[in-house]
Amino acid sequence: MTPGVPAAAPSAGRPAPAAVATDLTKVYGAGETQVVALDSVSVAFARGEFTAIMGPSGSGKSTLMHCMAGLDTVSAGSARIGETELTGLKDKHLTRLRRDKIGFIFQAFNLLPTLNAIENITLPMDIAGRKADQDWLGKVVDTVGLADRLKHRPSQLSGGQQQRVAVARALAARPEIIFADEPTGNLDSRSGAEVLGFLRNSVRGLGQTVVMVTHDPVAASYADRVVFLADGRIVDELRSPTADAVLDRMKRFDAKGRVV
Ligand code: ADP
Repeated sequence: MTPGVPAAAPSAGRPAPAAVATDLTKVYGAGETQVVALDSVSVAFARGEFTAIMGPSGSGKSTLMHCMAGLDTVSAGSARIGETELTGLKDKHLTRLRRDKIGFIFQAFNLLPTLNAIENITLPMDIAGRKADQDWLGKVVDTVGLADRLKHRPSQLSGGQQQRVAVARALAARPEIIFADEPTGNLDSRSGAEVLGFLRNSVRGLGQTVVMVTHDPVAASYADRVVFLADGRIVDELRSPTADAVLDRMKRFDAKGRVV
């Protein structure tokens, strides 16, 4: 365990977090064009919890997600998924970790048009040569309400249904953690609400851990916890957020994204 991060230490009956950042710093560029995207961020994401990351544009939300998911390298500090330290991992190990331990949901659904829903859901496992656990898969399909759509191709599904396929695909391999980047950004509010409801069900019903980047206070209100970033630092957090409380908190950033 890393010293200095009390939340990471497993206390009696409390499992270790699914992911932990410790003094995570990310600097882009050098000299005059240098940008400190993350400035010594420490945060733990508890297992079985749904966390939303919010903050003004340019505050470091995507960078934090990318560094935690092993999609980008860190400049200093540590990023851990479960017991695995990401910094210093060789590419091959990082690829395997992303494949086996992490689920991704993006704004674009990224489904293969020639495969039907269930083939899309099991594709990552098929590529990895892993057999799907049929019981689990059944639960996942039920959780996202897709049981009667499994033979449909993406073009035969609505946007909301396609994103539900993407959610099921992320859940299917039982990853340690799912990172979702503006998962409802391409959806109308009704479909968005459905997808968020299913994402929340996957946390409540299946014990999944989800970290979601969003700029939408309503989307954030589905989470158990909202972490606020400004200028590359964590400046606040809310538990059991309501959309109004999140909106109020967001209003306390000035036009440049600083805390006022
Ligand atoms: P957010 O997701 O909150 O909008 P980002 O994480 O995308 O913020 O960006 C944080 C800061 O880092 C911004 O100032 C952005 O311009 C900068 N940044 C992000 N990616 C790069 C990159 N690849 N090269 C240079 N600067 C970057």
